[in-house]
Amino acid sequence: MQTIARGITYGDLMFLGHPRVIATAVLQGPAGVALVDPGPSTCLGRLRGLLTEQGIGIGDVRTVLLTHIHLDHAGATGTLVRDNPAIQVYVHERGAPHMADPAKLLSSARRLYGDDMDRLWGEFWPVPHDNLRVLSGGERISVADREFEVAYTPGHASHHISFFDRSSGVAFVGDAAGIRTGSDLFVLPPTPPPDIDIDAWKASVALIDRWQAETLFITHFGPHGEPGTHLASLVEHLDGIAALAKTIVERDVADEERVRLFTDEARRYLQRHMPDSAAAVYDQAAPLWQCWLGLARYWKKRGVGA
Ligand SMILES: [Zn+2]
Repeated sequence: MQTIARGITYGDLMFLGHPRVIATAVLQGPAGVALVDPGPSTCLGRLRGLLTEQGIGIGDVRTVLLTHIHLDHAGATGTLVRDNPAIQVYVHERGAPHMADPAKLLSSARRLYGDDMDRLWGEFWPVPHDNLRVLSGGERISVADREFEVAYTPGHASHHISFFDRSSGVAFVGDAAGIRTGSDLFVLPPTPPPDIDIDAWKASVALIDRWQAETLFITHFGPHGEPGTHLASLVEHLDGIAALAKTIVERDVADEERVRLFTDEARRYLQRHMPDSAAAVYDQAAPLWQCWLGLARYWKKRGVGA
């Protein structure tokens, strides 16, 4: 576990054995422990181990804050609540129904991942209604003896929210502030289907920027200082990758050819900005074929390439 600020640490869930793909933040206060995005069930053994190192048992966890319900962020939540029914789960109102009844969420994930579902994400237990604390953005919530400002930050997902602890200056922004696996300034937007919205995402970035946080904590991966330059890099590459997808949506070729064109071009785009080994980590956190599907859907909804 690494320390971000007093009472705030984070651990590397070592997703599928890979470092720096998924991070979970841990907030500790006299009133109990809160986890931000506990990750998928396949990392639960690792998460429990990280907590044990800090003397924390699942029974000490009072709260789970979910930035959004994608399986790499929220998959283990129901299992944690099953093991400790006192846990309260904060989630956006558009995500909450799927935490209580994940059938639709899981079937759409299965369309994306097919037979790889179980290997990647493992089990997904529903969260009982009584454990859900439903947010819409704009609230202030008191968790682990801190007050968090909650903001609705769609773009990556239509139910994405972010949490800002002004007392420490740390903003927990899930995927809204992109993927940045090392200290190099390159921030890639993860753009999986189904509800990528570039304009909404930029508005969310502006909102996060207005917090004037000292640190942005992102799931993929960890804390980053100088939010202004980080967010500027995200917007630059959001535009770059979206424009690349648009030119390919407009091409008169078969769909399979489009995926290949996009992943080849996007990989070259990454390699222009970093060593190959670093580019591979990005592909792990946001597979490029998925980024393609999300962006192609975005442009087609807007009548491009129709
Ligand atoms: Zn996500």
